[in-house]
Amino acid sequence: MCINLFSDVKLSSKWWGWGDASRSYDLETRPKFFKFLKEKLEITGEIIQQPVSLDSVKVSGTRVEEAFARRLVSIFGENNVRLDDRERFLHSFGKGYLDLICAWNGAPSSVPDVVVYPTSESQIEQLFGESAHWSFVVVPYGGATSVVGGVESRTRDAKPVVCLDFRLMNRVLEVDARSLLAKVQPGCLGPELERELNGAGVTLGHFPQSFEYSSVGGWVATRSAGYESTRYGKIEEMVESLRLVTPEGVIETPLVPASATGPNLLQILVGSEGTIGVITSVTLKLRKAPQSRSYVGVLFKTFTDGIEAVREMMQKEIVPNVVRLSDPNETRASLALASQNGGSLVEKVGTWYLARRGYFGSQGVVMILAFEGSPEWVDFERRRALATCRSFSGFSAGSGPGRTWYRERFDLPYLRDKLMGMGVLADTLETATTWSRLPGLHSKIMEAFSGAFQELHVPGYAMAHISHEYRTGASLYFTFMAKQLAGREEEEWRLIKNRVTDVIVNAGASLSHHHGVGVEHVKWMEQYYGPLGIRVLKAIKHELDPATIMNPDKLLPAS
Ligand SMILES: Cc1cc2nc3c(=O)[nH]c(=O)nc-3n(C[C@H](O)[C@H](O)[C@H](O)COP(=O)(O)OP(=O)(O)OC[C@H]3O[C@@H](n4cnc5c(N)ncnc54)[C@H](O)[C@@H]3O)c2cc1C
Repeated sequence: MCINLFSDVKLSSKWWGWGDASRSYDLETRPKFFKFLKEKLEITGEIIQQPVSLDSVKVSGTRVEEAFARRLVSIFGENNVRLDDRERFLHSFGKGYLDLICAWNGAPSSVPDVVVYPTSESQIEQLFGESAHWSFVVVPYGGATSVVGGVESRTRDAKPVVCLDFRLMNRVLEVDARSLLAKVQPGCLGPELERELNGAGVTLGHFPQSFEYSSVGGWVATRSAGYESTRYGKIEEMVESLRLVTPEGVIETPLVPASATGPNLLQILVGSEGTIGVITSVTLKLRKAPQSRSYVGVLFKTFTDGIEAVREMMQKEIVPNVVRLSDPNETRASLALASQNGGSLVEKVGTWYLARRGYFGSQGVVMILAFEGSPEWVDFERRRALATCRSFSGFSAGSGPGRTWYRERFDLPYLRDKLMGMGVLADTLETATTWSRLPGLHSKIMEAFSGAFQELHVPGYAMAHISHEYRTGASLYFTFMAKQLAGREEEEWRLIKNRVTDVIVNAGASLSHHHGVGVEHVKWMEQYYGPLGIRVLKAIKHELDPATIMNPDKLLPAS
């Protein structure tokens, strides 16, 4: 019997959008926020488009020769080799805005020729062994939540694309509670991992917004960041060791807490985005599960005050798990949203009182802080953080705003699907820079968004928050929305993306703090690292993947 693996695992999730197919973002229950969006984006709020039906989708035929297909079946087993159109179509995009446009139109830019589900590392080695006999390329596929085209089935010279879906390699292989380490297979998704770790009284502490649907392999391949990264670090700081199967053989980095053995090989492999090999296991650093949690919202009169409070906290080594400081535009959107949620600060304290004290002016901003650990530690850190905020006129709004943020932290991606139906472009982008450059960069990026909306003659709205903070700087995360230009959706998105990314790279900020490079950021890589830097990365690729089998056109510019 042929099992429909994709259906088994993912049919409960939306192939054309985000998350659980039975859930959607209900704007009707948030009338103030809905009105806010309608005004800013000049939309009626009616649903004007829907994704095509899966049954109507047509894709080009597979280029896999029969004899190669038989060989794949002998390696992976009949049930785990899928050549049917539906499975191939469902593996042809990630979750970026352009991916969703392709999905809604049923017209992906490219489709894998075959999808295979490995169950062991040796099967992957055997696949690479076949490259001596057959011509093909390999696209590693984790949760497929990439927003930079990381799982696109790019190919050169019409080589068939083999999509390697790690869904069946999803086990936690070992938990060493004494050393606080866990060895995990790449296809393990966030909730599966945390469930197993929590059972042993530990946590990884990595919670990207895509947590429910993204995988360990994908996190490590893209240098992902979770919302608690300020305290726990990005994923690259959580990897103690990994195994990478490359077309030239296996590399396993030593399982040691630290070493002085030349350049850090582990960190060359982390973030390689499937372009030099396949991550088949990762040993992750754990923490004891926290006993206590606390949230607090803080209001500031200006974004500048908020930024200075965060900087001061980081530099005084006060490190909450979450520090999320919204800019004035995001604060306005959040307040429109919060006014429906009940129990918010606004209802409790009274808008009029705070407005009189200067907190709800057009420049006012809100910060969410979260603390985790032992009750004593949480109390200590919270008091120190609030004292720092007060020294920049921060007003503590109690735990309501923080609790609301925590409850709804995985909900907003559902809003994008709703907005798409209303004819709205909605996407995010991110960067990181130093404290000295951060305020200026934020202003320049906001100007670039406005300029792009004007150039396109579309109503649009951009907003940002600071999160993922460091002693030296922080990440800036932008959400942008614009009325869609029907039939010109890609052109519209590219113009906005190009204008803003040019500003980011010209300012010497990070091309990406956590989304990765994929195909969407490749064209800036040479400017970012310089020609010699790119030659070094290409030399590594050439050494491990001389026949350029691995994930074509991602990460590095073509020669
Ligand atoms: C709604 C939403 C919210 C998001 N929030 C965050 C966030 O908070 N933080 C964040 O960092 N990112 C976020 N992302 C981006 C995305 O979730 C991350 O990049 C994530 O790390 C990708 O994991 P994945 O398992 O989905 O990988 P995939 O999308 O499947 O793959 C990503 C890249 O890694 C490669 N890859 C996957 N598995 C392997 C492997 N085993 N070996 C080698 N290469 C591999 C793929 O080929 C691809 O190039 C978000 C995305 C969405 C859609």
